[in-house]
Amino acid sequence: MTTEIFSEIAEIGIPIPHGGADLHSHTTASDGMEAPRDQVRLAHRAGLEALAVTDHDTVAGIAEAVAEGHKLDIHVIPGVEISTVESGVDIHILGYYVNECDPVLLERLSRLRKTRDYRNVMITDKLTEQGIPITMEEVVAELGRPLADGESVGRPHIADALVRRGVVQDMREAFDKYLGANGTAYVNPPRIRPYEAAEWIRDAGGAVVLAHPVLYGSDELVERIVTEMKPDGIEVWHSDHDEQDVERYAALAQRFNCIMTAGSDFHGARQGKVFHGQLGSRRVSMDTVNELRHIAERRRLT
Ligand SMILES: [Zn+2]
Ligand SMILES: [Zn+2]
Repeated sequence: MTTEIFSEIAEIGIPIPHGGADLHSHTTASDGMEAPRDQVRLAHRAGLEALAVTDHDTVAGIAEAVAEGHKLDIHVIPGVEISTVESGVDIHILGYYVNECDPVLLERLSRLRKTRDYRNVMITDKLTEQGIPITMEEVVAELGRPLADGESVGRPHIADALVRRGVVQDMREAFDKYLGANGTAYVNPPRIRPYEAAEWIRDAGGAVVLAHPVLYGSDELVERIVTEMKPDGIEVWHSDHDEQDVERYAALAQRFNCIMTAGSDFHGARQGKVFHGQLGSRRVSMDTVNELRHIAERRRLT
């Protein structure tokens, strides 16, 4: 099953078009490597007209990215990627044009980050039991700065600490051996279900998109989730989707009357490698961006 979310794809040979929007990216507000303002600068260099900042369970990077976007004339879409679980599989739900100041959304996301923090401690406890005495203090120290309000660390940061200790060579090995679904320190804490995340996003006036369906390992599960949560869109183009995946999920999107979206899921480079894809390597036209915006605007009016 392709649950390992860090599969790397070869970008060489793929022509990078100019303009358009990359609808999926992570900054240092979650487990990306670039600060929000630097991410927007990279988007500018990649010729993007718009960039969605979609950090895991937080909107803490958005204000900085929006401010930089104004300077560089890049439209920054306020987004979030919410962690959920369905039938034991981690499912990610993207929200676009959410009101990032909505107190209810902020409180809900803060609850999810607490679950993440708790999960991190369970992982480091398991590693310690296995003779790798690692602490969350050590993991946070990897950042070289204190965590800001609303920021959280995740498994990639624990992987960085394992690489630093020389326990593994790189993040791939860290996930295969310890942190991934088949790893010896894997922990899956209770999480909300996809339809709840969709409700949260709608409550915060946003548009709902199912992220990277291929990573869930079962199209039957994907269809069940789409039927239940009725997303506005499906991420048809993603760095981990091959041509056949794109065809299948485009057909699914059409069948369920969903918008087809695209995102690189850029996280920056770790140990010299870009996991998922390069910023701007997956793009949609600004028409798609406007469709998402209109859905969100209508939702806010009702
Ligand atoms: Zn994801
Ligand atoms: Zn992501």
